[in-house]
Amino acid sequence: MPSSLINYLTAIQFGAGAVSELAAILKQYRVKRPLLVTDRGLAELGIVERLPMEAAAVFAEVPTNPTEASVLAGVVVYRDNDCDGIVALGGGSPIDCAKAISILATHPEPLDQYALIRGGLAKISSQKPPVIAVPTTSGTGSEAGRGALISFPSGEKLALISPHVIPTAAVCDPELTLGLPPLLTAATGMDAISHCVETFCSPKVNPVADAIALDGLARAFGSLRAAVNDGSNLHHRSEMMMASLQGGLTFQKGLGMIHSLSHPLGALPGKPLHHGTLNAIFLPHVLRYNAKACPGKLDRMAGAMKCGEGRDLPTVFERLISDIGLPQRLSELGVTETDLESIPQLAMADHSTPTNPRAMTIEDCHILLRLSM
Ligand SMILES: [Zn+2]
Repeated sequence: MPSSLINYLTAIQFGAGAVSELAAILKQYRVKRPLLVTDRGLAELGIVERLPMEAAAVFAEVPTNPTEASVLAGVVVYRDNDCDGIVALGGGSPIDCAKAISILATHPEPLDQYALIRGGLAKISSQKPPVIAVPTTSGTGSEAGRGALISFPSGEKLALISPHVIPTAAVCDPELTLGLPPLLTAATGMDAISHCVETFCSPKVNPVADAIALDGLARAFGSLRAAVNDGSNLHHRSEMMMASLQGGLTFQKGLGMIHSLSHPLGALPGKPLHHGTLNAIFLPHVLRYNAKACPGKLDRMAGAMKCGEGRDLPTVFERLISDIGLPQRLSELGVTETDLESIPQLAMADHSTPTNPRAMTIEDCHILLRLSM
């Protein structure tokens, strides 16, 4: 099937082979000297050379969770090479890092002033270079999302959020995900599922986003097992990439407790824990915790997934997580009781907390973490 143009918040070129449109898209946004932002793993795979574009410079030093230091290093490369736009190639980390680089390309430091919880929304203007996001995983939805998550030396993982942070364009080509290993397919896929679940359960009124979230959830639930078992199946890869994109398109409703807990845990210094794996562990517990607050929504999700009633969902997800080979407990990831000490407080301050359907308390966070060990 030929790729088709979908225009919601971002111009999205979606479909197998869509990446061949990249040069034309750069031309459309008058980018002559793009900085390519990616990570070392992808750079070593040789994907960069295969992209139909000529980069003015390549910045491949994005760590697993982008840090303030990596953003500052990227800004130096951007300026030293007179770049006029950014192509972000990779999972959520390079895309988020590129978004933050695009802010500092035209806005003064320090970076943390642009965090949502520091009043950053009003400080980010539209005067930014274009960012073209090319996802190589199906999970974060960052290619269509308005946020960038950056880890700071303080131990905080802060979200820089603004409509101006949404990439100018996204190129979603499921062929780029064909080589993704099963565990990474599973973990990123659970991130996409958790975005659809949490945005759907968010109390903010947005039926359009709700419809997108339900559709994304149905696609991901229908294809994740198959994409993990046979990574070469383009149909299931395409379904997962669409579900991931749909999760990103619904971020405007806000996330919830799964992300409130996984954001600070993912920022633990010296312990790079995969965001999607953490979300998978928290998902069944948070659904049980939230069930009282939004029983109708749980039923609608179960209906979309064709798997019984809302109260069955936690077990349905536990089975899925086990089938795709992900751990069910934090202790299996090497998380210790000491690691958890600061998490409840940081979770309460997270930007996802106000849109959890049930008002969270610090004690609830303690209980959820204990259940997840
Ligand atoms: Zn996420």
